[in-house]
Amino acid sequence: MTNCLFCRIIAGDLPAKKVYEDEHTFAFEDIHPQAPTHVLVVPKKHIRGLKEASPEDAEVIGRCHLVAAQIARQRAVENGYRTVLNIGPGAGQSVFHLHVHLLGGRSLAWPPG
Ligand code: 5GP
Ligand code: ZN
Repeated sequence: MTNCLFCRIIAGDLPAKKVYEDEHTFAFEDIHPQAPTHVLVVPKKHIRGLKEASPEDAEVIGRCHLVAAQIARQRAVENGYRTVLNIGPGAGQSVFHLHVHLLGGRSLAWPPG
């Protein structure tokens, strides 16, 4: 989707600090980090969000979480990190290409705001 910000980042049409890439997923540094580690992990397939995901998207959504866990291990933030999906504008979703936030490297309050 040429009008989707994250599809354009995946395609290399827009710059981003790439952290990881495989056949199904792509990970890059968030442009406005909310923690010392703030990486976005996205499926290469355009999925608008979790609400819009279909059963056949289950595997790639799981893969995104496992990629986040791998990055957390590499960054040594395994004492405590969070994987987050914001779903819908009311929860702060501002980019409509499904993405898992990986946040770590600081203490994280619960419940989130
Ligand atoms: P959301 O609010 O949809 O859950 O998360 C979108 C995230 O994308 C935000 O944390 C925001 O900082 C990040 N973001 C927005 N535009 C860009 C961009 O052009 N490049 C990168 N690397 N991150 C972006
Ligand atoms: Zn997209």
